[in-house]
Amino acid sequence: MSKYDPEKKTIIEATHWLAEQGYLGKRSSGGNISLRMANQDAIAITPSGKPYLEMAVEDVCVVDLEGNLLVGKLQPSIESGLHLGVYQHRPDVSAVIHTHQTYASVLSILNRPIPSLFDEIIVEIGQVVEIIPYAFSGSADLVQNVVAKLGNQCHGYLIQNHGALSLGSDMERALKNAELLENVARIYYHALATGMDISELPKGAIEHFADMRQLRFIP
Ligand SMILES: [Zn+2]
Repeated sequence: MSKYDPEKKTIIEATHWLAEQGYLGKRSSGGNISLRMANQDAIAITPSGKPYLEMAVEDVCVVDLEGNLLVGKLQPSIESGLHLGVYQHRPDVSAVIHTHQTYASVLSILNRPIPSLFDEIIVEIGQVVEIIPYAFSGSADLVQNVVAKLGNQCHGYLIQNHGALSLGSDMERALKNAELLENVARIYYHALATGMDISELPKGAIEHFADMRQLRFIP
């Protein structure tokens, strides 16, 4: 048992749940998950190219804040730089989930940010789920595009022609945000498909729930 085992176990529980929802693929491995260590000097992150339902605690990698491998026999995710970029710029975030979940991915190819539709989304994720512009997976450009959007303090984003990025102060919140994001993306997609006008929340309600979010989640 290593000192990182509790965090590695949390990663495995999260990846199994996300894979069961179909957010990561069952035989394939589309996405990556990480968790910041309590003492903040390293992160636990999923390895590259290992199907998530087969993943075990010993497969999870631990990397330092520069991305150097500290623990693990597999290659850390090619998106490690993206995860580290989030942790460097968002002290409120301790868990990062990147998935290829279906409806968030649909909006990512429609290149459609999600406006203020439901109070719960504003409180938990933020006012607008923005699009992070496309760049190659694992590239420094993608890290830069992600970091450029983090200033809005949101806990959910769509990555153009790619998938979803969900954040949380802990893994449970990040998982909940991934699920909320998929739900709102599904509803928004079906509403868009009717071709009818879409009702956004009134301005007063948006401000009210944005204030609530500020009090609850923004340091
Ligand atoms: Zn991906």
